Amino acid sequence: MDRLNFLTAGIPISAKPRTFLNGLTRVREMGLDGMELEFGHGIRQNPALMREIGKRAAELGLILTAHAPYYINLNSNDPKIIEKSYQAILETARSLDVARGWSVVFHPGYYLEDRPKFAFPRVQKHIERLLQLAHKEALKVWLRPELMGKKSQFGTLYELVELSSNLGGHILPCIDLSHWHARTGKNNSYDEVERILKLLDHEIGGDVLKNMHIHFSGIEFGPAGEKRHMIFRKSDTRYREILKVLFDYDIAGVLVCESPNVEGDLLMLKLIYDSFA
Ligand SMILES: [Zn+2]
Repeated sequence: MDRLNFLTAGIPISAKPRTFLNGLTRVREMGLDGMELEFGHGIRQNPALMREIGKRAAELGLILTAHAPYYINLNSNDPKIIEKSYQAILETARSLDVARGWSVVFHPGYYLEDRPKFAFPRVQKHIERLLQLAHKEALKVWLRPELMGKKSQFGTLYELVELSSNLGGHILPCIDLSHWHARTGKNNSYDEVERILKLLDHEIGGDVLKNMHIHFSGIEFGPAGEKRHMIFRKSDTRYREILKVLFDYDIAGVLVCESPNVEGDLLMLKLIYDSFA
């Protein structure tokens, strides 16, 4: 990617009726760059629809990403849950591949009763296997474990960086800046986000900073981490300076806005970002 693109998380609120195709038209009308297809509550294969979505997105010059179902847990010791998790990730990847999309994000799982250091090799083994399966099917989309906001969830910045580094950069993390802020109570300033970017560049390297999949929103949190996403203005998120560091480092890829006021907040972010140029 050659610049930072601004994507809505799902269909814009103002698309009527709220279908994927109307959503894309609406995204284009607002001058935004694309849409993350939300399959959080489940995915059914529909190649005909995905082809149509892909065709419409291409006509409108829009980028597509996708969010896999929420029920995934790659740290489960129940083979049925593992199988369901594999299917959820692969089905999302197949769907996005048909639509000629770019990047699939998934929640890797929960520590459950495990200590994090015991969950790590298990999750890594499954992600490695998923990569091989996606490769076998020649799926041309990134698979991205997401940086998670609750302390019970696998997926700290450090776990994901280590995963990417161990797997030779063949998977890259989805950096959810709001989740990391909620999880740590910090990481909400220019300098702190700059340190994240430097860590990614140093530990993963390659063109990681030109290949970023970022999630961003206001967020409410407590001692256990994330409680809920909220609009930027009601939150303590220092979005202006965070956008500035993304601009200064010439970050390229996608920034997906997951605020409840999805397109309103995304337009605000894009306006601020463009004002730096
Ligand atoms: Zn997510």
